[in-house]
Amino acid sequence: MKTETIKGGEFVIRETPYEAIFIPEEFDEEAKMIRQTCIDFLESEVLNKLDRIDAQEEGLMESLLDKAGELGMLGVSIPEQYGGFGKNFNTSMLVADAVGGGYSFAVALSAHTGIGTLPILYYGNDRQKTKYIPKLASGEWKASYCLTEPNAGSDANSGRTSATLNAEGTHYLLNGQKMWITNAGFADIFIVFAKIEDDKNLSAFIVEKEFGGITMNPEEHKLGIKGSSTRQVFFNDCPVSVENMLSERGNGFKIAVNILNIGRIKLGAATIGSSRSVITQAVRYANERVQFNLPISKFGAIRHKLAEMATRLYAAESATYRAGQNIDDAYEALIASGMDEAKAKLKSVEQFAVECAIIKVWCSEMLDYVVDEGVQIYGGMGYSAEAPMERAYRDSRINRIFEGTNEVNRLLIVDMLLKRAMKGELDLMGPATAVANELMAIPDFDEQQDTPFAAEKKIIANLKKAGLLIAGAAVQKFMMSLAKEEEVLMNIADIIGYVYIAESVLLRAEKIWHTQGESAAQLPIDMARVYLYSAIDKVHVAGKEALYAFGEGDELKMMLVGLRRFTKAEPFNMKDARQRIAKKLIEENRYCF
Ligand SMILES: Cc1cc2nc3c(=O)[nH]c(=O)nc-3n(C[C@H](O)[C@H](O)[C@H](O)COP(=O)(O)OP(=O)(O)OC[C@H]3O[C@@H](n4cnc5c(N)ncnc54)[C@H](O)[C@@H]3O)c2cc1C
Repeated sequence: MKTETIKGGEFVIRETPYEAIFIPEEFDEEAKMIRQTCIDFLESEVLNKLDRIDAQEEGLMESLLDKAGELGMLGVSIPEQYGGFGKNFNTSMLVADAVGGGYSFAVALSAHTGIGTLPILYYGNDRQKTKYIPKLASGEWKASYCLTEPNAGSDANSGRTSATLNAEGTHYLLNGQKMWITNAGFADIFIVFAKIEDDKNLSAFIVEKEFGGITMNPEEHKLGIKGSSTRQVFFNDCPVSVENMLSERGNGFKIAVNILNIGRIKLGAATIGSSRSVITQAVRYANERVQFNLPISKFGAIRHKLAEMATRLYAAESATYRAGQNIDDAYEALIASGMDEAKAKLKSVEQFAVECAIIKVWCSEMLDYVVDEGVQIYGGMGYSAEAPMERAYRDSRINRIFEGTNEVNRLLIVDMLLKRAMKGELDLMGPATAVANELMAIPDFDEQQDTPFAAEKKIIANLKKAGLLIAGAAVQKFMMSLAKEEEVLMNIADIIGYVYIAESVLLRAEKIWHTQGESAAQLPIDMARVYLYSAIDKVHVAGKEALYAFGEGDELKMMLVGLRRFTKAEPFNMKDARQRIAKKLIEENRYCF
């Protein structure tokens, strides 16, 4: 079903009808076939070589990328005129998801197709796109992205790599050191960010290895994703033709930021694939492993873990594809308004940058939770390098660090929302004032509507009010210095994120209820409620911490009363719901939602 166009960040102040969200159950046959091709590729080419990949066997990763290229996996969202399949954004997310269970291979593939290829696709001119994109789509050339430097990580725009125009005005000479560069060991193309003279902002360049003047340190020794090539790259008078500047001088930081927006939501999709595979393995192990004469899957503590792992994955997945479709819809609307394709692609993702950042943070933390419990379910075998959880546990951890650390992304969530409010794009202050006024009024004693999901929707609406109450009070208290109050901003980001994910999983359950019937919706509803009830407590804790941090006197007391009112809910037996979810997983012997 076509969804209506919704503005990014609007979920904070507006209720979304279930009809307006896309759920993964709605992917068409073609998308499912593309996903299956990727899953089959992992099965036949990657999962049987994990030790060899992690040992960085000479030429192996390149040959896997070549084969993926032959199957079209590197060009799913690249327009047909440049050798791709021109599929929409959500289909490319499905590919990231399907490949996500591929450990280091998934990292190499996503660095190549994402941060390596997209800067040229979205910011390149026709000549640059014609020259580079077909070779990147086929895998003939492999790409990497060189932004980070030893002294410029989260503060990426502070990089010192320089680009100096030669006397003839034909070439820039690049000089500097880049760090943590994924795919560096075998890349043919480097997207390099550097500063020209005393510019405030970076510029971006397409650099071919063949240009010369590039040297590298040996491979980094890492905690996980050991099969992914990660190196420091040095540019020593590396000559880059002026024609190879991307976009305009000084536009590099904007390119970096916009490409990272896409990287973030795709990273979220990839963690979904990893989590699915980890949960399936954990369920199988729990069914096989016998202690006290019973499979450990019979024990309530283990069932709790399995159900909670599945619930968090299901919820994160609901949010990821909801946002993916919002991006596709925004793109269609921009194209209809006459915008060119590349610009519309960027703009549509930029509009949902808040959601992209939420998905990056919540999905990466979901995966860390899932692998941690995976290790626990495997017991001693979870700690063994002979069993699968050890690699999954180590490989997961990077996701909270790259594509913007989770701290930086949490800050961005609030910062971007407030900036939109200030620009008049999003009316945050109106609803925040309404919530503050509601606090002064006599509370309504919940004449609960007797419609399906009415109680849960009321909870979501109240959690949004809690967020608006705290964000509004923080803005009033700190004004322009709010950006320095990072602890409070983290609390606010937590509230916003939990609300978004909880609302997404609830809307998915509701849509299934309406489209597939009550019985198909039972377990989705259980998962939505389990997630929602955990979210209530998280919002309450985050809200309380924030209010304690800056509230005072009677005003603080009143806001705490308000917070309690907005985080109130009828009792719900989460244990029984988790038992039902676990029963299904155990019967199916895999992640089955
Ligand atoms: C395996 C791997 C692969 C990578 N691949 C690439 C790649 O292909 N290309 C590329 O360009 N980069 C890549 N990176 C770099 C990665 O993006 C950076 O590591 C990341 O952005 C963080 O930068 P940093 O390591 O310098 O940490 P720092 O920025 O030094 O951060 C250290 C800590 O301080 C926190 N922090 C920093 N600033 C703030 C703030 N304002 N407020 C609150 N907390 C803050 C961070 O959240 C973090 O917890 C990769 C990194 C790794 C480890």
